[in-house]
Amino acid sequence: MDIELSPEDQAFATDVRDFLTSNAYPGKGDYNEWRNGWFDKAKAKGGWDIPKWPTEFGGPGWTPTQHYIWEKETAEVGTPWDLPFGLSMLAPVLMAYGNKEQQDRFLPDIRARTVNWCQGYSEPGAGSDLAALKTKAELSSDGKHYVVNGTKIWTTLAHFADWIFCLTRTSDSGIRQEGITFLLFPMKQEGIEVKPIITLGGAHSVNMVHFTDVKVPVENRVGEEGKGWTYAKGLLQHERTGLAGISRSLVALETLKEQARSVKRGNGSLLDEPGYRSKVAELEVELLATEFTELRSLAGASSGQGPGPESSILKLKGTEIQQRIQKLTVEAGGLYSAAWGAKRVGHKFAKGGMNGYLSSRAYTIYGGASEVQKDVIAKNVLGIKRSK
Ligand SMILES: Cc1cc2nc3c(=O)[nH]c(=O)nc-3n(C[C@H](O)[C@H](O)[C@H](O)COP(=O)(O)OP(=O)(O)OC[C@H]3O[C@@H](n4cnc5c(N)ncnc54)[C@H](O)[C@@H]3O)c2cc1C
Repeated sequence: MDIELSPEDQAFATDVRDFLTSNAYPGKGDYNEWRNGWFDKAKAKGGWDIPKWPTEFGGPGWTPTQHYIWEKETAEVGTPWDLPFGLSMLAPVLMAYGNKEQQDRFLPDIRARTVNWCQGYSEPGAGSDLAALKTKAELSSDGKHYVVNGTKIWTTLAHFADWIFCLTRTSDSGIRQEGITFLLFPMKQEGIEVKPIITLGGAHSVNMVHFTDVKVPVENRVGEEGKGWTYAKGLLQHERTGLAGISRSLVALETLKEQARSVKRGNGSLLDEPGYRSKVAELEVELLATEFTELRSLAGASSGQGPGPESSILKLKGTEIQQRIQKLTVEAGGLYSAAWGAKRVGHKFAKGGMNGYLSSRAYTIYGGASEVQKDVIAKNVLGIKRSK
């Protein structure tokens, strides 16, 4: 998509591209040293290390167009790896609902990428129906700490996490959503057991986490007791917007076309075959339409609104598109895509194709399954009421 950039925005785009290309990883040397240096330099540019944070917390205060430019450029040139849990999920909750002590205590480490967080929402029996969660937090008789007991599941990177932001149940009476409390506590302590879950793609990224009498000081509670549902929902909207990955998909689509062009078919390439070509074209049209939705969402963000229910449209379409790119990559690689963990066979791009495809099945589950996003869109975007 082409948008007309003002001279100021063009200058900004050049500045971003220069920064990214002149600080790109050289391909050799200590990666972590380069990564830390990259964030330091981005910080010195005026909050480029935390592009989405508001100015009062050190962010750059960009316009929607500047965010759009940043997303585009970083998707093409790349940035050091980064995790969303602290930076894009917990931080906005702390900014909106945490007290000053909590903001001063946690935000600097999140910004410095020195503390890894994980998200303790889902439980066995409480995924889409998150309000069914049972992990119990009981306030001690002296009112100084909570005692947490229960089990979380699918906790991404819990085995690397230093801290968890965790939804707990502090009351069983009344409406389920009203008895939920948002707690923060360290992962490396007595009473916490992390067990790996190996997923379809063969990776260990998710875990089962058991809590037995874990003590959490009351000052680690975000906001009020019993109001955690409100904070949790806000966080999910940030999570969903982040998962759409539109700019990355635009780059991935171009890569896919190049790969299909490199696969010979008769006198031409796979991309010349009408069947394959029409699938790529259909995907491209949907991707561009989703990009427009993302721009509307960015425009809302610039006027001070947080991401709204339209983040569900982005999550739904963005993740479906990512899966379709993976599927078309496997199709382009053909049999060679199935080589698993072996040396490369056939097309260079085919190695790991099936692995990526299988891992991508999770995209339409985590952050809220697609069916649930459709419910949110029907109710909160289209205003459709449930039939009785
Ligand atoms: C790779 C991966 C990483 C994850 N990381 C984390 C994490 O870090 N932290 C965390 O807390 N959670 C995490 N999750 C959990 C994720 O949020 C849940 O898996 C998700 O919310 C779905 O819940 P569930 O697995 O219990 O499935 P269920 O809720 O049991 O759903 C099963 C099926 O029923 C459908 N369904 C459910 N409700 C409805 C409805 N109302 N209408 C129509 N269909 C419905 C669903 O769409 C789905 O197809 C992760 C999951 C995966 C796969």
